[in-house]
Amino acid sequence: MNQMIKDIEHQMLINGMLVAGQGEAVDIVSPHNDERVLGISEATEAQVDEAVKAARAAFAGWSELTPKDRSLHMLGIADLIEDNAELFAKLECLDTGKPYHLMLDEEIPAVVDIFRFFAGAARCMNGSAGGEYLPGFTSMVRRDAIGVVASIAPWNYPLMMAAWKLGPALAAGNTVVLKPSELTPLTTLQLAAMLKDKLPAGVLNVVFGRGQTVGAPLTSHPDVDMVSLTGSIPTGQAIVSSGAATMKRTHMELGGKAPVIVFEDADIEKAVDGVKNFAFANAGQDCTAASRVYVQESIYDKFVDALTDAVRTLRVGMPFDDESEIGPVVSKAHLERVEGFVKRAEALDHTRVTIGGGRLDQPGNFFAPTVIADARQADEIVQKEVFGPVVSVTSFETESQVLDYANDSIYGLASSVWTRDTARATRLAAKLRYGCTWINTHMLLASEMPHGGVKMSGYGKDMSMYSLEDYTVVRHIMISHD
Ligand code: NAD
Repeated sequence: MNQMIKDIEHQMLINGMLVAGQGEAVDIVSPHNDERVLGISEATEAQVDEAVKAARAAFAGWSELTPKDRSLHMLGIADLIEDNAELFAKLECLDTGKPYHLMLDEEIPAVVDIFRFFAGAARCMNGSAGGEYLPGFTSMVRRDAIGVVASIAPWNYPLMMAAWKLGPALAAGNTVVLKPSELTPLTTLQLAAMLKDKLPAGVLNVVFGRGQTVGAPLTSHPDVDMVSLTGSIPTGQAIVSSGAATMKRTHMELGGKAPVIVFEDADIEKAVDGVKNFAFANAGQDCTAASRVYVQESIYDKFVDALTDAVRTLRVGMPFDDESEIGPVVSKAHLERVEGFVKRAEALDHTRVTIGGGRLDQPGNFFAPTVIADARQADEIVQKEVFGPVVSVTSFETESQVLDYANDSIYGLASSVWTRDTARATRLAAKLRYGCTWINTHMLLASEMPHGGVKMSGYGKDMSMYSLEDYTVVRHIMISHD
């Protein structure tokens, strides 16, 4: 393990060179055993500036490559990650505590597929052909890269979020300065080191550091054209505000509080299994987590009992144990935050904690999978994003009532409806104000399909051709016939 991480502290990538940060050192701590993995020095503002300048200098060459050549680079990145799957999976688990077998079997293939999808997409990024809209003139539309993109990633799926950002940005012909979360930088720094000689210098730059010290100077840099963030609402607000000075394009993937609506005619066993899997996956640290469940009154008690029994079977454990299904939450500060939500919910007169409810008595940031039944719509646990292994359950009577409940949120990222009535599912899907509505499933994504929210969950799409479009500018070219 030590050998594996030995070089990472010198693996910021700026202008094709691996360099150590010259700023303050930040400790990287494993969330499953509280052990310090290493200290990594942050970039200074001068290094951030260097990275942006390198990206600017590389832009012309990269954006003028043929789509075929950019596509070959993207395929190379996919192969590199696939060929080093075990190394990337180990580093990610060291950093996040998530189960290794799930990282290897589910997340790494998804990451590889993102790069392969965008390798193909790069070659399909056409402006539309035009026509003669004024007599004697032919118009055409081009889609071009925007320029230098600053990409800011969160800690919940570090390598996957890096892929969601790099795939469309690079495929479209932009150059990038990427900053991973200061809590979980290992896989991104490893990727940077491996791509050093594979991409032209300056096309991808990776800087390390905290939000205030490195994220803020990067995202407000006057020579950055676009900022793409996956993170929290306050960070999004800060980035949009500071970007206003130079009219930056922004792409915001922020929080979520996904409603899960279970009608009495649903396949209850399937719905219970779905909530068990999709509320607690990644220890609930997922912006689409099935975190607030609404169950129709006639099946409410049965559902809560079945869910409680199902959650009891979840195996919380260490990342390198094959039996583990759920790991710890990412940090001590986050553990305290999750615990605070649960304590406040538990203290209400009307709620019942049917299982879980507290930390596990062992090192690391383990929190027991928790079900809070009889929650009410106005409760904090129903309204706020917990981002931990906690689900609230609330009963409803009618379709219109539950639609109001579901839409009564500042968030609008993801939702699901569980019913055998196709007409009802279609009706609700049309009225739910969410970027995604799943019917009889939850949380599943495909590289070809867009992911992104409405309302305070942000704007812009990840994955799919829509994401590629977000990283381009549409231009009109008019040609005189004379
Ligand atoms: P965060 O906002 O604290 O941090 C995200 C990133 O922003 C980090 O790299 C951080 O260093 C950086 N940052 C912080 N302050 C900054 C600033 N002022 N300027 C520039 N960069 C700054 O979020 P987090 O705690 O890492 O991630 C959890 C959040 O991300 C949750 O709200 C979650 O819902 C959201 N998320 C959303 C999606 C989605 O697709 N919509 C996916 C994953 C996570």
